[in-house]
Amino acid sequence: MRDSIHIALAGNPNAGKTTLFNQLTGARQHVGNYPGVTVEIKTGICHHQQSKLVVTDLPGTYSLTAYSVEEIVARDFLVNEKPDVVVNIVDASNLERNLYLTCQFMELGVPVIIALNMIDVAKSRGINIDAEKLSELMRAPVVPIIARSGKGMELLLDTVVQVGRDREKQWVPLHLSYGEDLDQVLEDMTPMIRDGRLLTDTYPPRWTGLKILENDDQILDRAMRADSELADALVTRSEEVTRHLQTTVDAYPEAVIADHRYGYIKSILRQGVFSQIFDVDRLYASDRIDKIVTHRFLGPLIMAAVLYALYSVTFTYSTIPAGWLESFFAVLSEMVDQTLPEGPVKSMIISGVIDGVGGVLGFVPIIMFMFFGIAILEDSGYLARVAFMMDRVFRFFGLHGSSVMPFIVSGGIAGGCAVPGVMATRTLRSPKERMATLLTVPFMNCGAKLPVLALLIGAFFSSHQARYMFLATLLSWSVALMAAKFLRSTVLRGEPTPFVMELPPYRFPTFKGLLIHTWERTWQYIKKAGTVILGISILLWAMMTYPGLPDDRLHEFARHKAEIMAAYPQNFAEEAALVGEERTTEMEELQDKLLLVENRQAEAALRHSIAGRMGIALESVSRYAGFDWRTNIALVGGFAAKEVIISTLGTAYSLGSVDPEESTSLKDRLRADKNWNPVVALGVLAFIMFYAPCFVTVVCIARESGSWKWAWFSMGFNTIFAFLLAILIYQVGTFITG
Ligand code: GDP
Ligand code: MG
Repeated sequence: MRDSIHIALAGNPNAGKTTLFNQLTGARQHVGNYPGVTVEIKTGICHHQQSKLVVTDLPGTYSLTAYSVEEIVARDFLVNEKPDVVVNIVDASNLERNLYLTCQFMELGVPVIIALNMIDVAKSRGINIDAEKLSELMRAPVVPIIARSGKGMELLLDTVVQVGRDREKQWVPLHLSYGEDLDQVLEDMTPMIRDGRLLTDTYPPRWTGLKILENDDQILDRAMRADSELADALVTRSEEVTRHLQTTVDAYPEAVIADHRYGYIKSILRQGVFSQIFDVDRLYASDRIDKIVTHRFLGPLIMAAVLYALYSVTFTYSTIPAGWLESFFAVLSEMVDQTLPEGPVKSMIISGVIDGVGGVLGFVPIIMFMFFGIAILEDSGYLARVAFMMDRVFRFFGLHGSSVMPFIVSGGIAGGCAVPGVMATRTLRSPKERMATLLTVPFMNCGAKLPVLALLIGAFFSSHQARYMFLATLLSWSVALMAAKFLRSTVLRGEPTPFVMELPPYRFPTFKGLLIHTWERTWQYIKKAGTVILGISILLWAMMTYPGLPDDRLHEFARHKAEIMAAYPQNFAEEAALVGEERTTEMEELQDKLLLVENRQAEAALRHSIAGRMGIALESVSRYAGFDWRTNIALVGGFAAKEVIISTLGTAYSLGSVDPEESTSLKDRLRADKNWNPVVALGVLAFIMFYAPCFVTVVCIARESGSWKWAWFSMGFNTIFAFLLAILIYQVGTFITG
């Protein structure tokens, strides 16, 4: 063990490193006022509190990527010599740019003390920096100094000794988010690097991955020499994401990574760390926009207006292509109906396949419009501002500003997915805030619930569609936040942590990028609809068809029909069934009578089926909330995936209504059903929004939380809560409407 404390002085060129070095060691090294004077490494010694301090003056750098010799020298010194403390000299009058390097020290994980230098210059420019707040948010000690006069040296040395003596201290790399695409790649790369032990003696695995993405020559070279096969695999992955970023945002990974670092710094500076009494006209375009967009009062108003506009546009214009799709599937059903012979195959194709998949695909336009809108918000950088503004609210509910992203991903603006949402909670550092976020994101209106909500709203509240969808979103937020507050004050009690998130600069989204984002997400939805949903749709069709009615009951219905027909002339029934011909009142009368019998038969068959029996068994409980057995079947199916609710309702009702000529949509069928009314619909809506997450999400919750306990908890807790809410709505609603 070393008996002295090793300190490295590091910082941007001209931040005052050499001045500080001379102050500390009393050495007379040449002090220059231009970048690049300190090229070689100079070491000196000083004493403080009975400790011997070995001080090294590193060359000045702006970054830690191998762009220049200075950067390589500085970086190699840090990883090879592993100093006990890195004193990062930061020019207070140029804080944002200087913290860019600080940020990279923290990504590497070295123990950093920030020496906030030139506070005299900063003051003369009207800049005020809250060192305590900066320290809290950066999670590193901050000591304001004036290197030239020696002011603040005592405190700086005290801090150095304090941090330096803690030898047990591990390097803890800061994990920043670099945007969805890069985070995903890093997440894939990190275990590959760790398991392959690629340069792990020298660098943290995620950091090596990051450098490969940044195309860092030195690291690439070392990786190639250490394990060329693994390095090749990593480079291939990096090239893939580079191409992807090129087409979507027209930028290289280095630029995206830099943007996110600056965003991270900006978000810290904006939280009361930095203030300037008189303006030296140095506001960047992004800051100027932010002055208005994240204004205390204007900000939330703009945000509400933007989100509401998103809904209005989505629901107004998506109905046009939705109509085309609906007609397409109606025509398809019609064609199958006329070409195939009666029997189980025809029934399966119409009721299982076409209705099932058609019902889900019919909502693709809404989802595309919604994702397109969200892509605009995301790519322009506005979404991050939404998160920034929401932080104050989130804090109140025991969550963190970073919880916003998982909520938004899960469907906070409606139309996400809880599966990536649950995974997105990885960016949260506090375990309790993370758990609270993880358990409440499934309350959001994910892309799969969206069509179900749209269907019910369209059927019963069609005159105010956009407004109801907006209300549904507000409701999901309220319930999720209240549930979070509840969890944070009961099972997940604990202290909040400060807000840290990236505010990327505003950018004009490229049309190509928007299209790619929209398409990727829509395709994910379709893939799910095409595979899982089709399978489940057929399974449910089988459950609803088998076992068929026993022979004696079939005979009974056949006899009944024969009895009716006997009262009319021969062949009259066939003529009555013809379309387009002149039909007499008597013919219609006969048809109606026959239809009634067939309806009863179909309903009897469904009741007799496996699904029907389950639905009926549940009805004894569900009737308190006004759910009939058909709804029950659909809700049970929704456990598998929420999209299934629509296809199941579709299948259930198309089997129930027998007239093949009747081409009304599911909406009309529900509206016409005696078990449904607006109050029931409201109860079902609430239940669907809040009951157990789909099983894929449940599996993710179990995996992310590391225990099945929380997975069961979310299923039980959510379902009971949703059911009680549905009962409340149904009972109160029925009471009011008489
Ligand atoms: P280096 O490139 O990081 O080694 O920076 P230097 O130590 O060479 O300092 C650059 C310039 O900043 C020199 O002219 C110093 O005199 C000046 N300087 C350093 N610290 C301070 C300070 O705290 N206040 C003021 N006003 N000037 C400083
Ligand atoms: Mg120097």
